Amino acid sequence: MAVELVTSRGVISDLAGQRALNHARDLAESPQIDVLSITDNPAGNAMLAADTLGTELRSIGQEVIIHLACKDGNRNSLESRGWKLASEGFDNILALTGDYPKPGYGGMARPSFDIDSVGLLSMYSEMNRGLRDGKGRRMKPTNFFLGAVVTNHKRYERELVPQYLKLRRKIETGARFVINQAGYDVRKDDELLRWLALSGLKVPVIANVFVLSLGAARAFHAGRVPGVVVTDELVALAERYASSADRGRSFFLELAAKQVAIARGLGFRGAYLGGKLDLADCEQILARAEEFGPDGWKTIAGDVQFACPDEFYYFARDKATGLSSSEVSGVLVASRTSAARRRARLRTPINYRTSRLAHSTVFAPTAPLFDVVRRFYSAVESAPVSARKVLHLVEHVSKVPLYNCKDCGDCSLPEIAYLCPESQCAKNQRNGPCGGSHDGLCEVAERECIWARAYERLKPYGEETSMLDAPVVFNDNALRGTSAWANTFLGRDHIAHPVAGQEDVQ
Ligand code: SF4
Repeated sequence: MAVELVTSRGVISDLAGQRALNHARDLAESPQIDVLSITDNPAGNAMLAADTLGTELRSIGQEVIIHLACKDGNRNSLESRGWKLASEGFDNILALTGDYPKPGYGGMARPSFDIDSVGLLSMYSEMNRGLRDGKGRRMKPTNFFLGAVVTNHKRYERELVPQYLKLRRKIETGARFVINQAGYDVRKDDELLRWLALSGLKVPVIANVFVLSLGAARAFHAGRVPGVVVTDELVALAERYASSADRGRSFFLELAAKQVAIARGLGFRGAYLGGKLDLADCEQILARAEEFGPDGWKTIAGDVQFACPDEFYYFARDKATGLSSSEVSGVLVASRTSAARRRARLRTPINYRTSRLAHSTVFAPTAPLFDVVRRFYSAVESAPVSARKVLHLVEHVSKVPLYNCKDCGDCSLPEIAYLCPESQCAKNQRNGPCGGSHDGLCEVAERECIWARAYERLKPYGEETSMLDAPVVFNDNALRGTSAWANTFLGRDHIAHPVAGQEDVQ
């Protein structure tokens, strides 16, 4: 059993810090709680660093998981943080992309998102093998036990399947345990385990059970916490029970106990309790979950299935249990036939089709014109600067209206179905979607998530399930403001230089 801890704002000796510490110490005394999991600036707010509370807990022998998000620091600061964590004996790291930052001291913080959760897993996996120093020698390896999150409670196919694909990428990049994002539909949780089994991915998964309150239910329902969904039906129940004398507390704890019992029955390795909980709440949830007995979860599985009317499921419903079967959904199978794909192709945007054509003719390393253009760019390298500037201008003038290009110089258009992550993804995600989308929309801006759009563009060509198969992308910031075309043809971009070491992960 894991319990999530949120640190306070201010120093640990302050009142709020002491309260958080005492709460954590209380939990640490329970033999039923194996690990305490400490968040990193949750919901984008600045909080006390997880390691400070973690150090206190480790000093009394408590196992902890440190959450590490990529929103507030670039790759160098995350590497440095890795050395610090490893030096202080923290091994369990939960790698996250992180929520978009909230306003901080003096105004809105500038988000980093220099790398993402996949990049962080890649870098820390490499640290586990021993990063190479300036002379190419391996440094002392770290011993991180890396974890990842999957947001599996997604409404639409174009959101859900990319989340699964990104999970596969995270596991292949070094995640050795998984915690799913909180949700209130156990059919989706059942489905997650079945999808992992179908994909041949063997990794322990811990079920996230966020214990609701009326305030939390309202916030999730309003979409104020990225990636967590509370449906109309569930928020209505929360409102009804919250009008009782205990403000719905017994209802919320009972719901959580059912989730824990069902998760155990489904085969999750453990449960992960979150929310405003004291030790007595945790013990009550665990005791009540026990009361359902080894098979009782089957009779209550229908009590935790809060889904939208048009919710997409990867697998067909099992009529006997109301949960997931292992049979891929008929709707999905029908949409993957050659005829369906051919029809869908006609609906793809014309600029997407022309971009594909241009890529396969000129820009892909195997394209028939690639070598000709490469030789041309090689020749231009030794031409006067003005010639290179003219070429760069031609590129810019054509890419701005087509893709809203921001001139990053290290282009990811071919990997995201010709959608620019710099201009159209608030977190500049290049290795798959973050978990924050809501009904297909970006958590930050009122527009469709580029990864959901990419999925829909690729599906008519039968390429949607391989959309995240390429090596992990680390974009090279040294190329900003330079010609991405020149960098492609002259082998300077991330496609020509996948990060070393990825090939021997796992
Ligand atoms: S070069 Fe960079 S900014 Fe321009 S379209 Fe490609 S990814 Fe976007």
